[in-house]
Amino acid sequence: MAVRLVVLGRQGAGKGTQCLRLTQHYGAPHISTGDMLRSAVAEGTEFGRQAQEIMNRGELVSDEVMIGVVTERLSRDDVVEHGFLLDGFPRTVGQAEALDDIVAGDMGLAVNIDVPLDEVRARIKGRGREDDTDEAVDRRLALYEQETAPLLAWFTGRDMLLNVDGLGTETEIAMRLIEVIDAHR
Ligand code: AMP
Repeated sequence: MAVRLVVLGRQGAGKGTQCLRLTQHYGAPHISTGDMLRSAVAEGTEFGRQAQEIMNRGELVSDEVMIGVVTERLSRDDVVEHGFLLDGFPRTVGQAEALDDIVAGDMGLAVNIDVPLDEVRARIKGRGREDDTDEAVDRRLALYEQETAPLLAWFTGRDMLLNVDGLGTETEIAMRLIEVIDAHR
């Protein structure tokens, strides 16, 4: 059966890694808006150039643009057939409301990979990625609290939120996720 999942969590919580595990397990396509933007940057389009500038500052691409990108992606056959694992979208309440419209109210479940702020800061420092300047990291984490954390209450209000402790080994967390998802779908 097709699975529809929204994966939430701070930058550095392990969303990308766990989405790969979940994709292998459930067969639904992993749709990462960050990856989609990074491919646009790599292609060197005008859109990619603008996105890169926003991403390097740690700001968010506008809801209007992101909703357009995701609407197009969710209309493809693989999604219709196998569902989706959304990573990095929605990131604002406006995007969540748009998603609700795109899927006509059938959003499935949201899982929050919960890792405390101090721990994600230490992890991001450790990986030393070029776009992880101190300013950009601080801005992304601040925007998460301001724009994305309200989604936890938004999904809870719709009885859709599952919270998973994100501390532990990759395999432990993958097992926790699958267990809680299977118990609720
Ligand atoms: P991520 O790989 O999900 O951390 O995304 C990397 C960057 O892409 C973010 O810091 C944002 O600048 C941008 N981005 C990705 N997804 C979104 C989204 N849903 N809304 C706005 N900006 C986004």
